[in-house]
Amino acid sequence: MTAPVVALRAASKNYPGGVRALREVSLAIRPGESLAIVGPSGSGKSTLLHLMGTLDRPSSGLVTVHGHDIAGLRDERLAAIRAHWIGFVFQQFFMTGHLSALDNVANGLLYRGLSPRRRRALASDWLVRVGLGHRQDHLPHQLSGGERQRVAIARAVVGRPSLLLADEPTGNLDSATGAEIVELLRDLHRDGTAVVVITHDMAVAATMPRQVEILDGQIRSDSGPTADDTAYLGAGPGPEALS
Ligand code: ADP
Ligand code: MG
Repeated sequence: MTAPVVALRAASKNYPGGVRALREVSLAIRPGESLAIVGPSGSGKSTLLHLMGTLDRPSSGLVTVHGHDIAGLRDERLAAIRAHWIGFVFQQFFMTGHLSALDNVANGLLYRGLSPRRRRALASDWLVRVGLGHRQDHLPHQLSGGERQRVAIARAVVGRPSLLLADEPTGNLDSATGAEIVELLRDLHRDGTAVVVITHDMAVAATMPRQVEILDGQIRSDSGPTADDTAYLGAGPGPEALS
């Protein structure tokens, strides 16, 4: 079977004070998949995202990224994994306030050994792709919330990560703008990026090809990989890889 981008096996996370935020969760995300993780507030969604994104380590169980067991890796190595393989988008449209949209996106390529000119050229390409070709020189305060979230997405994907993790990316947007953002995220899987959108909004989740429902720190249901996702994999390994 195709190696997952990220896999959890019986992963649990406890917080001080006896909080069992995740309880033996097993989940594999394949290259190019796009899925929603849905559940009510407090169900463990952000904790799950932190484990998948190597921002935190499990209390027990296994988390692997491209086959690397993160428990055995030093912090510097985890930082390198994040920088090369994982992009993040959060609810609060993070941008550096005094930098233009273009430079905010270009900064997503720092530490990649590219010249500033090349970084800006790639950033510009991505701003065009997210529909902000005409806003490249704007500062964050000159952009709407939806536009800032587009900048955040461009920044997260400019380095072509294999995994994009979005935690409630539409939480601060009106529903029409939110729907556009989800559509944009969903389309990224065409580039081979696996896209995970975390949401408490069933309507948002319903627009993704796969839904994983989480409740009280456990997976309650998983619609499983879709034909659409496996079609993407069809170009690579044979069908036996999908069993
Ligand atoms: P969600 O994102 O679904 O709202 P979280 O993963 O943020 O859920 O939280 C799951 C549970 O873990 C909640 O009960 C929350 O209060 C608790 N929790 C989250 N982060 C911490 C923390 N740093 N310390 C203690 N408890 C936490
Ligand atoms: Mg959360």
